[in-house]
Amino acid sequence: MSWSNYHSHCTFCDGRSTMEDFIKFALAKNVRKYGFSSHAPLPFNTFWNMKLDDLDDYKNEFYRLKNKYSSQIDLYLGLEADYIHDFIDIKNQLYNLDDFDYLIASVHYMDRLPNGNFWTVDGNFTDFEGGLRTLFDGDIKLAVLRYFQITMAMIQKGGFDMVGHLDKIAMNGSKCKEFDKTASWYKQIVGETLEQIKKHNLILEINTKSVNTLGITFPDVQFYSLVHELKIPIVVNSDCHYPSSITEGFQLVYKNLQQTGFKTLSQLIKGNWTDFEFDENGIKF
Ligand SMILES: [Zn+2]
Ligand SMILES: [Zn+2]
Repeated sequence: MSWSNYHSHCTFCDGRSTMEDFIKFALAKNVRKYGFSSHAPLPFNTFWNMKLDDLDDYKNEFYRLKNKYSSQIDLYLGLEADYIHDFIDIKNQLYNLDDFDYLIASVHYMDRLPNGNFWTVDGNFTDFEGGLRTLFDGDIKLAVLRYFQITMAMIQKGGFDMVGHLDKIAMNGSKCKEFDKTASWYKQIVGETLEQIKKHNLILEINTKSVNTLGITFPDVQFYSLVHELKIPIVVNSDCHYPSSITEGFQLVYKNLQQTGFKTLSQLIKGNWTDFEFDENGIKF
């Protein structure tokens, strides 16, 4: 039994340690399949995306380590790419995608603010609240509906393997008193998005980044049964930025998934996503 993780960051983007440190920690924590998914370069500067000029170094360092650790761990080269509606698709002209083993697609940015910057749903709450007021007159329901509309547009355009942190807007959204994640309109829009994921044969990650800090996964645990019902293939990812977080929340989430009825997790084997059985102690490779 061992773990896998395909969503991770390192010092090539906003992760706090080197690629090699993450590999050493992965080995120590019994992770036997590990993918790097730095925030892909964008045509503007941000605090967390990799710079386009660093992309070759990212690949070269990855291949050096893949070779060095080949007898101990399966390593994969990925990216977490931003979908910014009407601005940049997952497949774009900035870089060549041929060298990557897989792509995670995520919505971090929504519409433009008056200053020309895109409003981010994944930053601090002060910025979130400011954008919410400016773009949606403070109406969190409108903002959330817009977020899932954008997510569905991303799914329909495709060009990637896996949807990252599906309901990330709930993280800041939940701090708004008008937002109720059990409201029927909310369950409906998330349900419609899950149906699109199924229709387009995509993998959904169960993102454990906020299990220890906020007690939530993305998507929220309330949606596990629908994901199972729709037979959407899933992986469990920690979205780690620190080596100590590589398997954060895995035991609890694997157990919850098992109790929901899931029997398998999707795993990358020789270029194909294949189902493997699991239990609360890991994957049965
Ligand atoms: Zn992300
Ligand atoms: Zn991430």
